[in-house]
Amino acid sequence: MTQVPPHRSVETLLFLDNVTVSFDGFKALNGLNLDVQSGEMRAIIGPNGAGKTTMMDVVTGKTKPDTGRVTFRMTDLTRYDEAAIATMGIGRKFQKPTVFESHTVWDNLELALKSRRDPLTSLRWRLSTADRDRIAATIARIGLDADSARIAGALSHGQKQWLEIGMLLMQEPELLLVDEPVAGMTDGETEKTALLLRDIARTHTVVVVEHDMNFVRSLGVRVTVLHEGSVLSEGSLEKVQNDPRVIEVYLGR
Ligand code: ADP
Ligand code: MG
Repeated sequence: MTQVPPHRSVETLLFLDNVTVSFDGFKALNGLNLDVQSGEMRAIIGPNGAGKTTMMDVVTGKTKPDTGRVTFRMTDLTRYDEAAIATMGIGRKFQKPTVFESHTVWDNLELALKSRRDPLTSLRWRLSTADRDRIAATIARIGLDADSARIAGALSHGQKQWLEIGMLLMQEPELLLVDEPVAGMTDGETEKTALLLRDIARTHTVVVVEHDMNFVRSLGVRVTVLHEGSVLSEGSLEKVQNDPRVIEVYLGR
């Protein structure tokens, strides 16, 4: 019998069913269907304006769909607001890093840990040994061991992005949504980010939006191509890259 790691299961974690979002009559999402399995990492690609960011807005409750269902585990997310959804185990990384620039790397992760537990009393919390171990392990995981005492504002763009991913991990989300993580990164930083996300995908479900095809290739995961607010093609990167419809609207240009 094949061994299946314990975090792997074949159940749907996130399900978008016929989701439509209109802005002044323009359909940013148009009957979008998306099915992400628990433990899966999925890459979402597609031209500018395809609806990739809006898809994440709908999952996190920033935008309410006009029609359709958004289900996380057994929960209908459309019934909850953004603050409530953030406590359900969905973490989001926006395109631009939003770390606390004047705090150290360590303190950024400590703040992320404490704000998850109790936002109101976070300043009075004392760290347990287990907390310190978790922060140290996360710093190692994001490759900032040598920088833990540095002020975040002094980090490179790529390092800030990794720090913010680390801050998300401190909040122990089940699902991570990551929007264009390698935009503006050097090639070396992009490679490291692919390794980091592959590592994270061993313990979390991840949905990553990205334009960089070399990056998507190095993730080695199932790809969904969005176009005009719905799914144009889905499958391995090789399969979607050879799909004539994808070539016409996206890759061929
Ligand atoms: P992508 O992330 O794939 O580039 P977006 O989801 O950001 O695309 O946008 C999809 C479309 O919806 C675009 O045409 C964009 O201009 C439009 N759009 C997104 N958000 C809004 C908004 N708040 N108001 C009006 N139009 C929007
Ligand atoms: Mg976008």
